[in-house]
Amino acid sequence: MDSQYLPMSEAKISVLDWGFLHSDATYDTVHIWGGRFFRLDLHLDRFFAGLEKLRMTIPFDRNGVAEILHNCVALSGHRSSYVEMICTRGASPTFSRDPRDAVNRFMAFAIPYGSVADAEQMQRGLHVAISQTVRIPAASVDPSIKNYHWLDLVRGLFDAYDRNAETALILDTAGNVAEGPGFNVFIVRDGALTTPATGVLPGITRRTVFDLCAEQGIPVTAGEVSVDALRKADEVFITSTAGGIMPVTALDGQPVADGKVGPVTMRLTALYWEKHADPAWSTPVRYP
Ligand code: PLP
Repeated sequence: MDSQYLPMSEAKISVLDWGFLHSDATYDTVHIWGGRFFRLDLHLDRFFAGLEKLRMTIPFDRNGVAEILHNCVALSGHRSSYVEMICTRGASPTFSRDPRDAVNRFMAFAIPYGSVADAEQMQRGLHVAISQTVRIPAASVDPSIKNYHWLDLVRGLFDAYDRNAETALILDTAGNVAEGPGFNVFIVRDGALTTPATGVLPGITRRTVFDLCAEQGIPVTAGEVSVDALRKADEVFITSTAGGIMPVTALDGQPVADGKVGPVTMRLTALYWEKHADPAWSTPVRYP
């Protein structure tokens, strides 16, 4: 932050930053596993594309950002970590209301790795509620720009807690399944996978599932996922940098198929973690 490396407790932003006041920010999160970045290039691609779409500029190129991320991880010493890069609109020195007058701010941090699902939930599968909350439409906020517009997702979480579920899936304006708080979703039916095509963040873990399926010859498509198709699926799983591929075994209190973690989910999860040691998919952190 501001060309300095600081302990997390000292990393602070101004309350006048538009990132805080208006959610005017973009970010990306990459993870470290076994001392290696997983698919760092794809995260940098998405982050820099977001900056361009939001007309933000930072004083670093891809290599500069990658170096800062390496340094954050190396200085923290984490071997498994959740690493976030952020650009906020910043604040205007003259209190101008014109976003073009704001000085954009870049910051990055590394904290210990965290997962949507804990070890027990990974074993038995997550219990998910289908919230009636509608995801912010893509025509309002472009979901391909990773963003902090989370009030719909947080509302979904409270809906889920009220119904004794652990997390939520929320719908798009047509009533189809969109995504959840920090994850994409896949259904498996007769050996073929489907994930919502539009109105969602194009997740890097979602993309990784497509790449694994291509390698394994498993059919996968991005298309419409109705609530009915979700309820009738043989298997359901969610995907996120925070946890990878995570099984869902109950929807609104009803079991998904036989209520056990399914074979396709297990196979893809195992392959996902194997790839973390593969130099084609991961990069070692430059620890001192
Ligand atoms: N959807 C939303 C809204 C997210 O915030 C995230 C990640 O934070 C995802 C999906 C999953 O994306 P990724 O696999 O790149 O972590």
